[in-house]
Amino acid sequence: MREFGYLRPTSAAEAVQLLAADGGARYLAGGTNLVDLMKLGVERPRLLVDLGRLPLRDIGPAGDGGLRIGALARNADLAADPRVRTAYPVLSQALLAGASGQLRNVATTAGNLLQRTRCLYFQDTAKPCNKRRPGTGCPAREGVHRDLAVLGASEHCVATHPSDLAVALAALDATVELLGPDGARTLPVTDLHRLPGDRPDLEHRLLPGELITAVTLPPPAPGARSAYRKARDRASYAFALASVAAVLVVREARVERVRIAFGGLAAKPWRARTAEAMLLGAPAEEASFRAAAEAELAAARPLRDNGHKVPLARNLAVRVLSDLALASVR
Ligand SMILES: Cc1cc2nc3c(=O)[nH]c(=O)nc-3n(C[C@H](O)[C@H](O)[C@H](O)COP(=O)(O)OP(=O)(O)OC[C@H]3O[C@@H](n4cnc5c(N)ncnc54)[C@H](O)[C@@H]3O)c2cc1C
Ligand code: SF4
Repeated sequence: MREFGYLRPTSAAEAVQLLAADGGARYLAGGTNLVDLMKLGVERPRLLVDLGRLPLRDIGPAGDGGLRIGALARNADLAADPRVRTAYPVLSQALLAGASGQLRNVATTAGNLLQRTRCLYFQDTAKPCNKRRPGTGCPAREGVHRDLAVLGASEHCVATHPSDLAVALAALDATVELLGPDGARTLPVTDLHRLPGDRPDLEHRLLPGELITAVTLPPPAPGARSAYRKARDRASYAFALASVAAVLVVREARVERVRIAFGGLAAKPWRARTAEAMLLGAPAEEASFRAAAEAELAAARPLRDNGHKVPLARNLAVRVLSDLALASVR
Protein backbone atom coordinates (compact mmCIF):
# COMPACT_ATOMS: atom_id res chain seq x y z
CA MET A 1 0.00 0.00 0.00
CA ARG A 2 1.46 3.34 -1.07
CA GLU A 3 0.56 6.23 1.22
CA PHE A 4 -0.90 9.48 -0.15
CA GLY A 5 -2.47 12.61 1.31
CA TYR A 6 -6.11 13.53 0.78
CA LEU A 7 -7.65 17.02 1.01
CA ARG A 8 -11.13 18.36 0.24
CA PRO A 9 -11.04 22.09 -0.55
CA THR A 10 -14.29 24.04 -0.72
CA SER A 11 -13.35 26.60 -3.39
CA ALA A 12 -11.69 26.42 -6.81
CA ALA A 13 -9.05 28.95 -5.71
CA GLU A 14 -8.12 26.79 -2.71
CA ALA A 15 -7.89 23.68 -4.93
CA VAL A 16 -5.57 25.49 -7.35
CA GLN A 17 -3.39 26.67 -4.46
CA LEU A 18 -3.06 23.14 -3.10
CA LEU A 19 -2.05 21.74 -6.45
CA ALA A 20 0.39 24.55 -7.17
CA ALA A 21 2.09 23.93 -3.82
CA ASP A 22 2.80 20.23 -4.49
CA GLY A 23 4.10 18.91 -7.81
CA GLY A 24 3.06 15.40 -6.73
CA ALA A 25 -0.61 16.34 -6.25
CA ARG A 26 -3.52 15.38 -8.56
CA TYR A 27 -7.10 16.59 -8.80
CA LEU A 28 -9.63 13.87 -8.04
CA ALA A 29 -13.08 14.17 -9.63
CA GLY A 30 -15.16 10.98 -10.05
CA GLY A 31 -11.99 8.92 -9.69
CA THR A 32 -13.12 6.36 -12.28
CA ASN A 33 -9.88 6.72 -14.24
CA LEU A 34 -7.40 8.13 -11.73
CA VAL A 35 -8.10 5.58 -8.98
CA ASP A 36 -7.86 2.69 -11.48
CA LEU A 37 -4.46 3.99 -12.59
CA MET A 38 -3.34 4.34 -8.97
CA LYS A 39 -4.24 0.70 -8.37
CA LEU A 40 -2.15 -0.26 -11.41
CA GLY A 41 0.79 1.85 -10.17
CA VAL A 42 0.66 4.04 -13.30
CA GLU A 43 -0.31 7.13 -11.27
CA ARG A 44 1.45 7.64 -7.93
CA PRO A 45 0.19 10.94 -6.53
CA ARG A 46 1.56 12.21 -3.21
CA LEU A 47 -1.66 14.11 -2.60
CA LEU A 48 -5.21 13.82 -3.91
CA VAL A 49 -7.13 17.10 -4.04
CA ASP A 50 -10.76 15.96 -4.06
CA LEU A 51 -12.91 18.39 -6.06
CA GLY A 52 -16.18 16.95 -4.75
CA ARG A 53 -17.06 19.96 -2.56
CA LEU A 54 -16.48 22.57 -5.27
CA PRO A 55 -19.59 24.30 -6.62
CA LEU A 56 -18.87 23.24 -10.22
CA ARG A 57 -21.73 20.85 -10.90
CA ASP A 58 -24.28 23.21 -12.48
CA ILE A 59 -25.44 23.19 -16.11
CA GLY A 60 -26.92 26.56 -17.08
CA PRO A 61 -27.28 29.20 -19.76
CA ALA A 62 -24.12 30.96 -21.00
CA GLY A 63 -24.19 34.72 -21.61
CA ASP A 64 -24.33 34.43 -25.41
CA GLY A 65 -27.33 32.06 -25.50
CA GLY A 66 -25.19 28.92 -25.33
CA LEU A 67 -24.77 26.47 -22.46
CA ARG A 68 -22.26 26.47 -19.59
CA ILE A 69 -21.42 23.07 -18.15
CA GLY A 70 -19.72 22.88 -14.74
CA ALA A 71 -16.53 20.80 -14.72
CA LEU A 72 -18.05 18.45 -12.15
CA ALA A 73 -21.36 17.90 -13.98
CA ARG A 74 -21.85 14.14 -14.07
CA ASN A 75 -21.87 12.46 -17.50
CA ALA A 76 -25.32 10.97 -16.75
CA ASP A 77 -26.81 14.35 -15.72
CA LEU A 78 -25.38 16.08 -18.78
CA ALA A 79 -26.68 13.39 -21.17
CA ALA A 80 -30.17 13.66 -19.65
CA ASP A 81 -30.34 17.47 -19.54
CA PRO A 82 -33.34 18.56 -21.68
CA ARG A 83 -31.41 21.54 -23.12
CA VAL A 84 -28.60 19.21 -24.24
CA ARG A 85 -30.97 16.63 -25.67
CA THR A 86 -32.84 19.28 -27.66
CA ALA A 87 -30.16 21.72 -28.81
CA TYR A 88 -27.02 19.52 -28.78
CA PRO A 89 -28.13 15.92 -29.41
CA VAL A 90 -24.61 14.99 -30.56
CA LEU A 91 -23.41 15.60 -27.01
CA SER A 92 -26.10 13.55 -25.35
CA GLN A 93 -25.56 10.69 -27.82
CA ALA A 94 -21.77 10.74 -27.33
CA LEU A 95 -22.11 10.56 -23.55
CA LEU A 96 -24.60 7.70 -23.71
CA ALA A 97 -22.26 5.82 -26.05
CA GLY A 98 -19.53 5.92 -23.38
CA ALA A 99 -18.73 3.57 -20.50
CA SER A 100 -21.72 2.18 -18.55
CA GLY A 101 -24.68 3.62 -16.63
CA GLN A 102 -22.88 3.16 -13.31
CA LEU A 103 -19.71 4.89 -14.53
CA ARG A 104 -21.66 7.78 -16.09
CA ASN A 105 -23.33 8.38 -12.72
CA VAL A 106 -19.91 9.16 -11.24
CA ALA A 107 -17.72 10.36 -14.12
CA THR A 108 -17.46 14.13 -14.58
CA THR A 109 -17.12 16.45 -17.58
CA ALA A 110 -13.53 17.49 -16.84
CA GLY A 111 -12.44 14.02 -15.73
CA ASN A 112 -13.75 12.55 -18.95
CA LEU A 113 -11.82 15.10 -21.03
CA LEU A 114 -8.58 14.37 -19.16
CA GLN A 115 -8.85 10.59 -18.88
CA ARG A 116 -5.71 8.77 -20.02
CA THR A 117 -5.20 6.47 -22.98
CA ARG A 118 -6.26 2.81 -22.82
CA CYS A 119 -3.09 1.60 -24.58
CA LEU A 120 -2.29 -1.75 -22.93
CA TYR A 121 1.41 -0.97 -22.55
CA PHE A 122 0.68 2.34 -20.86
CA GLN A 123 -1.39 0.51 -18.25
CA ASP A 124 1.25 -2.17 -17.59
CA THR A 125 4.13 -0.86 -15.49
CA ALA A 126 6.23 -3.93 -16.35
CA LYS A 127 6.39 -2.74 -20.00
CA PRO A 128 8.30 0.14 -21.57
CA CYS A 129 6.17 3.10 -22.71
CA ASN A 130 7.30 6.56 -23.85
CA LYS A 131 4.15 8.15 -22.47
CA ARG A 132 4.54 6.69 -18.98
CA ARG A 133 8.35 6.71 -18.88
CA PRO A 134 9.81 8.98 -21.57
CA GLY A 135 12.66 7.48 -23.55
CA THR A 136 11.81 3.81 -22.85
CA GLY A 137 10.26 3.10 -26.26
CA CYS A 138 6.89 2.34 -27.80
CA PRO A 139 6.20 -1.42 -27.90
CA ALA A 140 2.72 -0.80 -29.34
CA ARG A 141 4.11 0.05 -32.78
CA GLU A 142 5.26 -3.53 -33.34
CA GLY A 143 2.96 -5.12 -30.76
CA VAL A 144 -0.75 -4.85 -30.01
CA HIS A 145 -2.11 -1.75 -31.74
CA ARG A 146 -5.44 -2.83 -33.20
CA ASP A 147 -7.22 -0.03 -31.27
CA LEU A 148 -4.54 2.63 -31.68
CA ALA A 149 -4.02 5.71 -33.82
CA VAL A 150 -4.00 6.10 -37.60
CA LEU A 151 -3.89 9.92 -37.65
CA GLY A 152 -1.40 12.34 -36.08
CA ALA A 153 0.72 9.61 -34.43
CA SER A 154 4.51 9.62 -34.25
CA GLU A 155 7.29 7.05 -34.04
CA HIS A 156 7.27 7.76 -30.28
CA CYS A 157 3.60 7.02 -29.58
CA VAL A 158 0.50 5.76 -31.39
CA ALA A 159 -1.99 6.04 -28.52
CA THR A 160 -5.56 7.23 -29.00
CA HIS A 161 -7.62 9.45 -26.72
CA PRO A 162 -10.55 7.43 -25.37
CA SER A 163 -13.15 10.14 -24.64
CA ASP A 164 -16.44 10.20 -26.57
CA LEU A 165 -17.50 13.45 -24.93
CA ALA A 166 -14.39 15.25 -26.24
CA VAL A 167 -15.26 14.32 -29.83
CA ALA A 168 -18.74 15.83 -29.56
CA LEU A 169 -17.33 18.96 -27.89
CA ALA A 170 -14.80 19.35 -30.73
CA ALA A 171 -17.62 19.30 -33.31
CA LEU A 172 -19.59 21.81 -31.21
CA ASP A 173 -16.72 24.35 -31.05
CA ALA A 174 -16.77 24.19 -27.26
CA THR A 175 -14.48 26.25 -25.04
CA VAL A 176 -12.80 25.09 -21.84
CA GLU A 177 -12.64 27.50 -18.87
CA LEU A 178 -9.52 27.21 -16.73
CA LEU A 179 -8.36 28.60 -13.41
CA GLY A 180 -4.67 28.47 -12.54
CA PRO A 181 -2.16 30.03 -10.16
CA ASP A 182 -1.87 32.98 -12.58
CA GLY A 183 -5.62 33.50 -13.04
CA ALA A 184 -8.41 32.44 -15.38
CA ARG A 185 -8.26 31.82 -19.13
CA THR A 186 -10.11 29.91 -21.85
CA LEU A 187 -9.00 27.42 -24.48
CA PRO A 188 -10.86 26.02 -27.49
CA VAL A 189 -11.48 22.35 -26.72
CA THR A 190 -9.74 21.48 -30.00
CA ASP A 191 -6.53 22.94 -28.50
CA LEU A 192 -6.83 21.14 -25.16
CA HIS A 193 -5.13 17.87 -26.18
CA ARG A 194 -1.78 17.53 -27.92
CA LEU A 195 -0.51 15.17 -30.59
CA PRO A 196 2.42 13.06 -29.36
CA GLY A 197 5.34 14.28 -31.50
CA ASP A 198 8.52 13.50 -29.56
CA ARG A 199 6.86 14.19 -26.16
CA PRO A 200 3.94 11.76 -25.77
CA ASP A 201 4.11 12.33 -22.01
CA LEU A 202 2.71 15.83 -22.59
CA GLU A 203 -0.95 15.13 -23.30
CA HIS A 204 -2.71 18.47 -22.89
CA ARG A 205 -2.09 22.20 -22.75
CA LEU A 206 -3.05 22.85 -19.13
CA LEU A 207 -0.39 24.75 -17.23
CA PRO A 208 0.86 23.26 -13.92
CA GLY A 209 -1.92 23.41 -11.33
CA GLU A 210 -4.63 24.57 -13.75
CA LEU A 211 -8.14 23.41 -12.96
CA ILE A 212 -10.91 23.01 -15.54
CA THR A 213 -13.85 24.90 -14.08
CA ALA A 214 -16.38 24.67 -16.93
CA VAL A 215 -17.00 23.94 -20.60
CA THR A 216 -19.12 26.34 -22.65
CA LEU A 217 -21.04 25.62 -25.83
CA PRO A 218 -21.91 28.36 -28.31
CA PRO A 219 -25.61 28.64 -29.21
CA PRO A 220 -26.56 26.14 -31.92
CA ALA A 221 -26.55 27.57 -35.46
CA PRO A 222 -30.08 28.09 -36.86
CA GLY A 223 -31.25 24.92 -38.60
CA ALA A 224 -28.35 22.84 -37.26
CA ARG A 225 -28.78 19.10 -36.82
CA SER A 226 -26.23 16.98 -35.04
CA ALA A 227 -25.46 13.34 -34.28
CA TYR A 228 -22.80 10.96 -32.92
CA ARG A 229 -22.06 7.47 -34.14
CA LYS A 230 -19.55 5.05 -32.63
CA ALA A 231 -18.22 1.68 -33.82
CA ARG A 232 -16.93 -0.65 -31.09
CA ASP A 233 -16.46 -4.32 -30.34
CA ARG A 234 -19.55 -4.55 -28.08
CA ALA A 235 -22.77 -2.57 -28.00
CA SER A 236 -21.86 -1.04 -24.63
CA TYR A 237 -18.99 -0.70 -22.17
CA ALA A 238 -16.36 -0.48 -24.92
CA PHE A 239 -14.15 2.27 -26.26
CA ALA A 240 -14.45 3.48 -29.85
CA LEU A 241 -12.68 1.74 -32.69
CA ALA A 242 -13.79 4.83 -34.56
CA SER A 243 -16.49 7.42 -33.99
CA VAL A 244 -17.86 10.53 -35.67
CA ALA A 245 -19.55 13.64 -34.31
CA ALA A 246 -21.18 15.87 -36.90
CA VAL A 247 -23.14 19.12 -36.97
CA LEU A 248 -24.78 20.02 -40.28
CA VAL A 249 -26.83 22.91 -41.68
CA VAL A 250 -28.38 22.32 -45.11
CA ARG A 251 -29.92 25.16 -47.14
CA GLU A 252 -31.49 24.56 -50.56
CA ALA A 253 -29.93 21.09 -50.75
CA ARG A 254 -26.41 22.42 -50.20
CA VAL A 255 -24.14 22.36 -47.17
CA GLU A 256 -24.28 25.77 -45.53
CA ARG A 257 -22.28 24.86 -42.41
CA VAL A 258 -20.62 21.66 -41.23
CA ARG A 259 -18.48 20.49 -38.32
CA ILE A 260 -17.01 16.98 -38.23
CA ALA A 261 -14.81 15.37 -35.58
CA PHE A 262 -13.46 11.81 -35.51
CA GLY A 263 -12.81 9.82 -32.33
CA GLY A 264 -10.68 6.70 -31.82
CA LEU A 265 -8.26 7.68 -34.58
CA ALA A 266 -5.74 9.97 -32.84
CA ALA A 267 -4.36 11.20 -29.53
CA LYS A 268 -6.98 13.95 -29.64
CA PRO A 269 -10.43 14.43 -31.12
CA TRP A 270 -9.67 14.87 -34.82
CA ARG A 271 -11.44 17.91 -36.31
CA ALA A 272 -11.87 17.08 -39.99
CA ARG A 273 -11.07 20.54 -41.34
CA THR A 274 -10.14 19.31 -44.84
CA ALA A 275 -13.51 17.57 -45.15
CA GLU A 276 -15.36 20.58 -43.73
CA ALA A 277 -13.72 22.95 -46.26
CA MET A 278 -14.57 20.60 -49.15
CA LEU A 279 -18.20 20.34 -48.11
CA LEU A 280 -18.99 24.04 -47.78
CA GLY A 281 -21.48 24.85 -50.58
CA ALA A 282 -21.39 21.27 -51.94
CA PRO A 283 -24.55 19.28 -52.65
CA ALA A 284 -25.70 17.72 -49.37
CA GLU A 285 -25.57 14.16 -50.69
CA GLU A 286 -23.73 10.91 -50.13
CA ALA A 287 -21.20 11.40 -52.95
CA SER A 288 -19.99 14.71 -51.45
CA PHE A 289 -19.79 13.24 -47.97
CA ARG A 290 -17.82 10.23 -49.21
CA ALA A 291 -15.33 12.36 -51.18
CA ALA A 292 -14.81 14.70 -48.21
CA ALA A 293 -14.27 11.85 -45.73
CA GLU A 294 -11.82 10.17 -48.11
CA ALA A 295 -9.88 13.42 -48.53
CA GLU A 296 -9.63 13.83 -44.75
CA LEU A 297 -8.56 10.23 -44.19
CA ALA A 298 -5.92 10.34 -46.95
CA ALA A 299 -3.60 11.52 -44.16
CA ALA A 300 -4.08 8.23 -42.27
CA ARG A 301 -0.96 6.10 -41.68
CA PRO A 302 -2.21 2.78 -40.36
CA LEU A 303 0.07 0.24 -38.70
CA ARG A 304 0.09 -3.53 -39.37
CA ASP A 305 -3.21 -4.28 -37.58
CA ASN A 306 -5.34 -1.13 -37.51
CA GLY A 307 -6.04 -0.39 -41.18
CA HIS A 308 -9.69 -1.33 -40.60
CA LYS A 309 -10.17 2.00 -38.85
CA VAL A 310 -9.89 3.99 -42.07
CA PRO A 311 -12.89 2.55 -43.99
CA LEU A 312 -14.76 2.28 -40.69
CA ALA A 313 -14.34 6.01 -40.00
CA ARG A 314 -15.19 6.89 -43.60
CA ASN A 315 -18.37 4.84 -43.56
CA LEU A 316 -19.43 6.26 -40.20
CA ALA A 317 -18.96 9.80 -41.47
CA VAL A 318 -20.90 9.15 -44.69
CA ARG A 319 -23.72 7.53 -42.72
CA VAL A 320 -23.99 10.27 -40.08
CA LEU A 321 -23.87 13.12 -42.59
CA SER A 322 -26.33 11.41 -44.97
CA ASP A 323 -28.78 10.84 -42.10
CA LEU A 324 -28.49 14.47 -41.00
CA ALA A 325 -28.99 15.72 -44.58
CA LEU A 326 -32.06 13.53 -44.97
CA ALA A 327 -33.50 14.78 -41.68
CA SER A 328 -32.93 18.37 -42.84
CA VAL A 329 -35.28 18.04 -45.84
CA ARG A 330 -38.06 16.21 -43.98
C1 LIG B 1 -14.65 0.01 -17.97
C2 LIG B 1 -14.66 1.43 -18.44
C3 LIG B 1 -15.19 1.73 -19.67
C4 LIG B 1 -15.20 3.06 -20.11
N1 LIG B 1 -15.71 3.36 -21.36
C5 LIG B 1 -15.66 4.65 -21.81
C6 LIG B 1 -16.13 5.00 -23.10
O1 LIG B 1 -16.60 4.15 -23.86
N2 LIG B 1 -16.08 6.30 -23.48
C7 LIG B 1 -15.56 7.28 -22.67
O2 LIG B 1 -15.52 8.44 -23.06
N3 LIG B 1 -15.09 6.97 -21.45
C8 LIG B 1 -15.14 5.70 -21.01
N4 LIG B 1 -14.64 5.38 -19.78
C9 LIG B 1 -13.91 6.39 -19.05
C10 LIG B 1 -14.72 7.13 -18.08
O3 LIG B 1 -15.70 7.85 -18.77
C11 LIG B 1 -13.72 8.05 -17.39
O4 LIG B 1 -13.03 7.23 -16.47
C12 LIG B 1 -14.37 9.19 -16.69
O5 LIG B 1 -15.06 10.01 -17.60
C13 LIG B 1 -13.34 10.01 -15.95
O6 LIG B 1 -14.02 10.99 -15.18
P1 LIG B 1 -13.77 11.13 -13.63
O7 LIG B 1 -14.56 12.28 -13.18
O8 LIG B 1 -14.01 9.84 -12.92
O9 LIG B 1 -12.22 11.48 -13.66
P2 LIG B 1 -11.04 11.17 -12.62
O10 LIG B 1 -10.66 9.74 -12.72
O11 LIG B 1 -11.36 11.72 -11.29
O12 LIG B 1 -9.90 12.09 -13.27
C14 LIG B 1 -9.35 11.84 -14.52
C15 LIG B 1 -8.20 12.82 -14.76
O13 LIG B 1 -8.71 14.15 -14.90
C16 LIG B 1 -8.09 15.03 -13.94
N5 LIG B 1 -9.13 15.98 -13.55
C17 LIG B 1 -10.38 15.68 -13.13
N6 LIG B 1 -11.11 16.80 -12.97
C18 LIG B 1 -10.30 17.84 -13.29
C19 LIG B 1 -10.48 19.25 -13.35
N7 LIG B 1 -11.65 19.83 -13.04
N8 LIG B 1 -9.44 20.03 -13.75
C20 LIG B 1 -8.25 19.45 -14.08
N9 LIG B 1 -8.02 18.12 -14.03
C21 LIG B 1 -9.04 17.33 -13.66
C22 LIG B 1 -7.61 14.11 -12.82
O14 LIG B 1 -6.53 14.67 -12.10
C23 LIG B 1 -7.21 12.87 -13.60
O15 LIG B 1 -5.92 13.05 -14.14
C24 LIG B 1 -14.65 4.08 -19.30
C25 LIG B 1 -14.12 3.78 -18.04
C26 LIG B 1 -14.11 2.46 -17.60
C27 LIG B 1 -13.54 2.17 -16.25
S1 SF4 C 1 1.42 3.94 -28.00
FE1 SF4 C 1 2.02 5.53 -26.54
S2 SF4 C 1 1.02 4.86 -24.68
FE2 SF4 C 1 1.15 3.04 -26.00
S3 SF4 C 1 3.12 2.04 -25.61
FE3 SF4 C 1 3.48 3.48 -27.23
S4 SF4 C 1 4.21 5.30 -26.11
FE4 SF4 C 1 3.13 4.05 -24.63
